[in-house]
Amino acid sequence: MTIQDLEQARKDAVAKARASGLQEDHIAAKQAGLALAAAIVDGCKLCECGAMPHGMLQPFLFGKDVMTGFEIGCTSCKGKRCKAPTREGAVAKWNEDQWLSK
Ligand SMILES: [Zn+2]
Repeated sequence: MTIQDLEQARKDAVAKARASGLQEDHIAAKQAGLALAAAIVDGCKLCECGAMPHGMLQPFLFGKDVMTGFEIGCTSCKGKRCKAPTREGAVAKWNEDQWLSK
């Protein structure tokens, strides 16, 4: 599945869980989110704290246009985040310690 497929699956699962309120649907939505996050950080090194970084899709200002970009960060280490318009770019930044300025 592509990132777009995984994101769509996550959105569908979240919408289903909100509509049904069933715990099994909430678990499925969480797992869909984890599947997306894992696909985004594919190829990333571990954080120096030992954690696998977390990946997200984020609105990204690219020139004057807002487009969907990729953010990778450590959920334990503050300030360790990087963002790029492409997944490959975000992974490269993460692996080269190019953090966003705070
Ligand atoms: Zn960390």
